[in-house]
Amino acid sequence: MNMNQAWTLTIDDQWIAWLTFDMPGEKVNTFTQSTLSELDTMLDELAPNEEIKAVVIRSGKPDCFIAGADIDELAKIHSPQEAKEKSVAGHAVFTKLANLSVPTVAAINGSCLGGGLEMSLACDYRIVTDHPKTSLGLPEVNLGILPGWGGTQRLPRLLGLARALPMILTGRALPGRRAYQIALADAVAAPEFFEDEIRRFVDRIVKRSGQREIANRRKKRQPTFLRYLTGNPIGRWLVYYQARRQIMTKTYGLYPAPLRALEVIRKTFRRTSMQDGLAIEADGFGELACTSISRNLVWIFQASQRIKKAGPSAKHGAPSIRSAGVVGAGIMGGGIAWALSNAGIRVRMKDINWDAVTTGLASAARMFRASVKRRKMTDNELNLAIHRIAGTIDYTGFDSLDFVIEAVAENIAIKKQVLREIEDHVRPDTIICTNTSSLDLNEIASALRNPKRFVGLHFFNPVNRMPLVEVIGGRATSEKAIIAATELVRRLKKTPIVVGDCPGFLVNRILLPYLVESAWMFEEGVDIQRIDRLLEQFGMPMGPLTLVDEVGIDVGYKVAKVLEGAYGKRMQVPCALGDVVDAGDLKGKKNGSGFYLYNNGHKKPNPQITSVIAEARKKDEISAQDLTDDQIVDRAVLIMVNEAARCLEEGVVDDPEALDFAMIMGTGFAPFRGGLLHYADQRGVYQIKQRLEELAVSFGDRFTPAPLIEKIAGNGGYFYENGNSVTGNGDTRG
Ligand code: NAD
Repeated sequence: MNMNQAWTLTIDDQWIAWLTFDMPGEKVNTFTQSTLSELDTMLDELAPNEEIKAVVIRSGKPDCFIAGADIDELAKIHSPQEAKEKSVAGHAVFTKLANLSVPTVAAINGSCLGGGLEMSLACDYRIVTDHPKTSLGLPEVNLGILPGWGGTQRLPRLLGLARALPMILTGRALPGRRAYQIALADAVAAPEFFEDEIRRFVDRIVKRSGQREIANRRKKRQPTFLRYLTGNPIGRWLVYYQARRQIMTKTYGLYPAPLRALEVIRKTFRRTSMQDGLAIEADGFGELACTSISRNLVWIFQASQRIKKAGPSAKHGAPSIRSAGVVGAGIMGGGIAWALSNAGIRVRMKDINWDAVTTGLASAARMFRASVKRRKMTDNELNLAIHRIAGTIDYTGFDSLDFVIEAVAENIAIKKQVLREIEDHVRPDTIICTNTSSLDLNEIASALRNPKRFVGLHFFNPVNRMPLVEVIGGRATSEKAIIAATELVRRLKKTPIVVGDCPGFLVNRILLPYLVESAWMFEEGVDIQRIDRLLEQFGMPMGPLTLVDEVGIDVGYKVAKVLEGAYGKRMQVPCALGDVVDAGDLKGKKNGSGFYLYNNGHKKPNPQITSVIAEARKKDEISAQDLTDDQIVDRAVLIMVNEAARCLEEGVVDDPEALDFAMIMGTGFAPFRGGLLHYADQRGVYQIKQRLEELAVSFGDRFTPAPLIEKIAGNGGYFYENGNSVTGNGDTRG
């Protein structure tokens, strides 16, 4: 046998053919050109063998079936024609599989995504485990493409339109048990009994009666009303109409892939033969695969893999972390306790009184319940995880902890006091972290006798949803402490990004000017909803003023003032925001009244804040501005690009890739644009410089181009060494 071979074929004494996929030296199986052609050869070998009764396809990896097509190969596709050919090549192999004359079964344990699911759909049957890692999905739209190996054809045929569309259009994957419920899978078993189940299942399907039973079950699993709805052209039109509306509401049409996938399905479902449908799918795939949007989304995936592997790591494996403490059981403390316990680490969470401790415990419990709801956790696991967190109002037990993370109020005196207390109660080797968002790390560290073990660990809110954590060393922090903190973040299944110490660190330093600029525009009389809408249309996950409401106007103001103190005039906060905070009751979403009024999940502009701001405008003699849409977007976005350039120049972060990735993961910056600096490169750094100069003339010196922008523009260069490396033949400018 060839040692580099990924597929092996064995035929047992019952004449069952076992095709096992196990890529040598890889953690997961993927379809590369070579593994796909190996499968093709195996199928050629199998097809003429008339003795064989059934074929079972399984994986040799412990918890991955097939993770999908190889992303690096996708990134190297040069032209729509080449993309189309790749799609057609996959169709040929999977059609061969679908045409085998004996029953075929995909035995799925672990992730079965993209091309992996498309291959499984070409099998007659799928059986799955209920292992937590088993998930079945078509995530292609998240990479700016559509399922190009038969997914748009076979999934709707199997599940019906109403169930297939959400999977294809959102890319959301289903756990094993859910796949079984909707008959995407025909049997489910616990991983321990999977081998037995496969054999039992094969015994069933080699008989006609067994095949009939399964076909009946599939039929019954499709609710009658859904079958009725999509069984006639008007019902189907309604389903397509609703699906399109949902895509447009969610994406403003900025992401073409779900729209194109919908179009392919609309043209083919119940209208064409499989063969014609596959040809139309290949056209759609070809069109999408080389657009700059797909390039950017593929880059995010690749960057996340690189960044996860980069950064400091322990040479001899990660140190074992058994227990940790959290001091401050507020919004962040509760979230951090959740993350620690979720990773199997015992937690002691301390606050100054039991009411506060209870609040922290309740918010951790809420996050666990959300995991149960998303079927990421069972009720039993929830109970165990909650019991791993112990509340306390003193430092009992802190002498046994490996880590302590401070998340008390953002007040330097309180933080220093709390750190002194922590140091008095922990072992000499315990790593002590602060979750401060804006305070000077060295100033906080001055409270400690041994600042070498002190690290900034900046989690984002809400902790259970935000994948990024900034890791920051102070002047005295040892490399060992940075490594330990970075490993802890990895253990929490989040991405650590080591950034230089500066006020606001990386993400808030770039984000705050955007929020403050939006507040300036509001003070200048621009309609609140217009600002939010334009930036959502640019691709931000929510408008800036809605985001301030989410964070809390009081909290955001405090951080903005710290940054103004540190960076001076270019981060000047409008006085009007101070008036808003002084008004006392305008705090944002948490008390239902901020830039918007919140009521029963609905929001509308808050007349109170508009009148406070109008008063302030008069008082501060700010003249109302008549801004164009482009001016609004450029003021908000280019102020970030300008600050990002400064961060890069100062070495707050090592390279443009880390910066872009951090802004996407930390703020949700329009993923399809590939991050701030990719956006600037794609628009042209020289053009950005010119636009900043115009804005500086009209709106103030804060827009004066950063020296790095001047330099790059002067050389006709880009932020990224290879310039527009991710640009394809589409245009991402907004
Ligand atoms: P919060 O007000 O919700 O919670 C702070 C908690 O600290 C309160 O429960 C308070 O009782 C407790 N506390 C105060 N003094 C204490 C003491 N001496 N000992 C023990 N507990 C004490 O605040 P939060 O939003 O969770 O923020 C906590 C930290 O995290 C701040 O440094 C903040 O800047 C940072 N942070 C906040 C966010 C956010 O979005 N909220 C995001 C990232 C970082």
